[in-house]
Amino acid sequence: MIRIDTASSESSSMSDQRLLPLSAFPIADRRQIRGVFTDIDETVTTDGSLTAQAYAALEALKRAGLLVVPVTGRPAGWCDHIARMWPVDAVVGENGAFWMWLDRRAGKLCTRFVQSDAERADGQRRLQAVRAQVLREVPGAGIASDQPYRLADLAVDFCEDVPALPRAAVDRIVAIFAAHGAQAKISSIHVNGWFGDYDKLTTTRLMMRELFNIDLDAERARYVFSGDSPNDAPMFGYFPNATGVANVRDFADRMPHLPRWITQARSGAGFAELAQALLDGRNDPSS
Ligand SMILES: [Mg+2]
Repeated sequence: MIRIDTASSESSSMSDQRLLPLSAFPIADRRQIRGVFTDIDETVTTDGSLTAQAYAALEALKRAGLLVVPVTGRPAGWCDHIARMWPVDAVVGENGAFWMWLDRRAGKLCTRFVQSDAERADGQRRLQAVRAQVLREVPGAGIASDQPYRLADLAVDFCEDVPALPRAAVDRIVAIFAAHGAQAKISSIHVNGWFGDYDKLTTTRLMMRELFNIDLDAERARYVFSGDSPNDAPMFGYFPNATGVANVRDFADRMPHLPRWITQARSGAGFAELAQALLDGRNDPSS
């Protein structure tokens, strides 16, 4: 399972503390950061929209030479667009089912699934039974509008295009996935479920090794992950400098791991705050 030891020895007295203000992130440690992994929904986006401020923050990080990789529960169809058009180096999608990147030398978009075609086909078949039971037993739940663009998971909408469901209903959706032997993770808008033992973290580590030849276990203190929701918890537990945008507090009571740092602003403005903090670290003449 996920280890929660924090790799940073430089500031060990604070290493077990969580949800510390981002301003306490030591400037010298910020300067060591090589890349940013980030959730998208309500971490980069705000109330469902991508603001110019948040997009500019992504662009500024990339321009400064940092590795930028969104890690999202969003579908393959979105990730195709993101990998092609956003200022990113790659994107991990469907909670770790795959990563996509634009191979600029070869001039083509590439996808690496973590499961075989046969495993994915079997998973999709089994998810049909989950889908039927959720719709039968959880009034008000819907199938996410982005489901047709998914290649691996099932996304149940509890907050995006349907009136927000109470927590008990969200828990019931998770329980139905679990009863079928599927994994289920709660984002800010969907419950995503799949068959397979991958998640955002396992796929991010594999991608770093295969695509960038980086041993993330050894380098994790040099990467920041930003997120807001329970499906980000494995990342919060792994990265010693994980950062939650302020709205991470909305879900904090149902997360096994919380981020080390927290921004003052919510959602995309919080992400921009993080980007600025990292850029300040790079630009600080005293460090
Ligand atoms: Mg999110």
